[in-house]
Formats: sequence, C-alpha cells, structure tokens
Amino acid sequence: MVTMAGKKENEWNRSMATEAIHAGEMHDPSGAHIDPVHMTSTYVFEDVGAIGSWASGESESDVYSRVGNPNRRALSEKLAALEGFGLDFPVSAEIFASGMGAVTASIMGMAGSGDHIVTQSVLYGTTNHLVREVLPSYGISSSKVTLMDPDLLEAELTAKPNTKVVYIETPANPTMAVIDISKTAQIAHAHGARVVVDNTFATPVLQRPLALGADVVIHSTTKFINGHGTVIGGALVSRDADFIENGGGALVRYMGAVPSALDCWLTSIGLKTLPLRMREHCSNARVIAEFLDSHPKVVETYWPGLESHPQHDIASRQMDDFGALLSIELGDFDSACRFMDGLSMSSLAVSLGNVDTLVQHPASMTHRLWPPEDRIAVGITDGLVRISVGIEDSEDIVADFERALAGV
Ligand SMILES: *Cc1c(COP(=O)(O)O)cnc(C)c1O
Repeated sequence: MVTMAGKKENEWNRSMATEAIHAGEMHDPSGAHIDPVHMTSTYVFEDVGAIGSWASGESESDVYSRVGNPNRRALSEKLAALEGFGLDFPVSAEIFASGMGAVTASIMGMAGSGDHIVTQSVLYGTTNHLVREVLPSYGISSSKVTLMDPDLLEAELTAKPNTKVVYIETPANPTMAVIDISKTAQIAHAHGARVVVDNTFATPVLQRPLALGADVVIHSTTKFINGHGTVIGGALVSRDADFIENGGGALVRYMGAVPSALDCWLTSIGLKTLPLRMREHCSNARVIAEFLDSHPKVVETYWPGLESHPQHDIASRQMDDFGALLSIELGDFDSACRFMDGLSMSSLAVSLGNVDTLVQHPASMTHRLWPPEDRIAVGITDGLVRISVGIEDSEDIVADFERALAGV
C-alpha cells in the first residue's frame, strides 16, 4: 500500500512531535477518538457494482488483510511522515511482521540471481546470517567493507560492477560505529548501486537517511518505534513509491510477512510518543555515558556522543542527537558477569529501545553463534556489555549501575 507524507491543504508545517501524534490517524466514521483495531481477514463488497468500481480503480477499498488493512495503512502513513519529515519529496512506507521481513524485502526487492551486495563488516546478527548464509543459495553474493571507508568502497564497487545494494546500519553494534550516509550514497550511486540504511538505532527523530541520499530505510519497529516491548514488527520506507507498491514493499504480500492489525495498532500508539521518548532516551544516555566513561572499573565506553568516539564528527553532522545505545568494555567475562548479576532494576535481555533499561552481553547472547576469532576481531569481546538506556529517571539508572560496578 502506498502512503504519502504529503500534507493536506489545511495543514501547516507542523513539528515532528505533532506529526507523530496526528499523521495517519483515520478518524473513524464511528467517531471513535482512537482508531479501532480492524481484526478482520476479509472485507465485504456491497454489490457487484462495487466490485466493478474497485477493479477499475475508480474507488479504493480493502479486500483482504494480507494485501492491506486500515491499521497497517495508518501506521505506514505515520512512519512515512516521520521519515519524510522536512523533505521536499513524498515518502512511502510498508509495514512488515518483523524487522527481518523488511530487511529481506529491501534486499530481494533490489537484487536477484547474479547480483552482489556490499555491507559493512558488522551487521545485526540475523541480517548477517541472511546475507552470508541464506542469500548465496539464491545467487546473491556479498562482501564487506569496513565502516564503508570511501576508498575501500570505491575499490570494491569497481571490482564488483554487479553490486545492486550497499547495505548499512548506523549507529551499529557493538561499538556504535557510525557510517557517513551521504558519502556512502554518493559513491554507491556513482556505481549504479542503491543504498539501504537500517535506521533502527537512530529512528527518524534523530536521523533521516532519505534526506542524506539513501534510497531505502528499514526499521525493526520492535525497538524504539513501538518503544514498549509489546510487538515484533518492521518497516520499509522509500522515496520511490513504485518500489513500495510494486517492488520490495509488495513482497509483504508475496512472502506473507504480514503484521496483524493489533500489532500495527499497538505500534501506532507507541509511535505517537517517539519524539518525546527519544529526547529523554538521549539525555539519559548522555548522563549514563559520562558516568560510565569516568568510572575506574569501565575500560572503555562506546557512545557516539562522546568526543572520544572515533566517528563523533560524522555523528554530529548527520544525527540530531546520539541515541540511547551504548556499550562498555569491562575487561573480561567474569567482570561482565558480575556487573550483570549485580543489576537490580535494569533487565538482562536482548532487544532494545524500550522505555525500560535493557542490558545484554553480545558474546554470550546476540552473537553467541559467531566464531570467537570473528567476533573479537570486530570488538565483541567477552568483557563487552551493551546497554539500551531507558527513560527511567537517570539518577536511578546511575544508582543501579553504580551498585553493580561496585561488585566488579
Ligand atoms: C532487531 C533488529 C533487527 C531485526 O528486527 P526484528 O524485528 O527482530 O525482526 C534488524 N536490525 C537491527 C539493527 C535490529 O536491532
């Protein structure tokens, strides 16, 4: 389903906080203030004439919920309004049953047998598995370019003229590496490749990759977009309406990676407070990062907002704030375990972007299946702990961490 971020005639240039609340809302004819949840598989045509006018395109109507559903449409419109915020071109979005559904659709919508894709060296674990283990069976090869270094990327694209997709995540696990989106897009476009950005960590509130030249944005809406840990979901966003309607976006119905109406509804409710939540997430992250950075038991703190972060300048340029994901190096596995077992308020859990603080140990959790040499080479050491800073009071998060670090 195509949805545009275009404004209605009576709408002024509203702020992002306002768009998050109002964009895409259906205003149900029943008068319900909050959109009802459309839990239905099929839709009824009044008569044969109605089928005729739908078939000829004279009128639009929902027919079957795998193809489209009002709650899915409302969520795609809200998200398109945010990813397209302030841009002078329309943006479209489609919603998937998971972030991985959207990742798969973004790649399969642009690359086929005989094509190549170039990614950064460390990807979200399941994306990495898809690219390295699954796609080769369908004739799609891949290679890695560390941090999309411009010279290396230029060389790689020259050597692999069949590259259709340059795929990046920024900021990215585990060291919150930041990749220059405009530079990457410039080089990729000169070689006829399109750029996909996984914007899950930053969200459109902090970073709008389409404005920086990216062709497609994907999200795991499971994370900050929903924000409350209630749903697994994903989204594909693009300036190319045809790609959303007939290309990668259409794979939602061909692959069947369809989200339920209830999941879309829950995600839309969460998305309304995204700008507010991100402000609090980021200001808490600054307090926590500075506390951890100056703590004697913490060997290293990785957060793009710290001046010591190697890509702090790029992050300052392309992001409005630095996000709420950070990692700390505690030196060894034993110290990491003591820290994690010493926490009382924060939860030990994978996933991220919830209102509550989540802490996880990549080496034994999200990246446990990687060969140890491979993960250590990219910074996923036994002493590394990742923190998704929540929106509890920052003093309470600091207190929880302070007590846990005392046991290290
Ligand atoms: C979680 C996540 C995904 C996958 O999303 P799911 O909703 O779990 O399918 C992809 N990329 C990033 C950066 C993620 O954090």
